[in-house]
Amino acid sequence: MLIVDADAVRVERQLLAGELTCPSCGAPLVPWGHGRLREVRGDLGVRWFVRPRRSRCSGCQVTHVLLPEALWPRRMDAAEVIGAGLEIAALGMGHRQVAACLGLSDGTVRGWIRRFRSRSEDVRRYFTVTLVALAVDPVMPEPAASPLSDAVSAIAAAHRAAAMKWPQMNTVSRWVFAGRAIDGRVLTCTPSAN
Ligand SMILES: [Zn+2]
Repeated sequence: MLIVDADAVRVERQLLAGELTCPSCGAPLVPWGHGRLREVRGDLGVRWFVRPRRSRCSGCQVTHVLLPEALWPRRMDAAEVIGAGLEIAALGMGHRQVAACLGLSDGTVRGWIRRFRSRSEDVRRYFTVTLVALAVDPVMPEPAASPLSDAVSAIAAAHRAAAMKWPQMNTVSRWVFAGRAIDGRVLTCTPSAN
């Protein structure tokens, strides 16, 4: 799995030009059909369908699904929606309150929060290192109320540093930025095979 631009036309062009490379061996990826059709739940109940492109490595022959950056592996909800939920949870609200804010089921939101909590130390560490690498004068976020809140703060701080360095990053939300940075592994340890 590889997180790619949300613009499918640009991704197709990059794929045909050999500009997308295998995350395992670095060889160019070539077109290899499409993944399954996925329904996506966006903000304010908007639904849309995505059929991610599949690719195959010209070196190690492994296939990789090219997942648009608005999505994370194995999640039906858009990165933006999940991120909004994690930000509310970081304020100290429980999963039921977060679910009520977003109009989603308790079980869905509980799943995100549980996964993110188990990843929070790795996520915090990764984005703190990113912050130090990008910022001219990095200001570490103050320790927050929980490891989950610390991880959310670290993502926000790294995103701000990235936007200072590259102004075009201002048009990219912090959750899309986070997914790009760690190949969609905001909630999962290992990228999904498809
Ligand atoms: Zn490869």
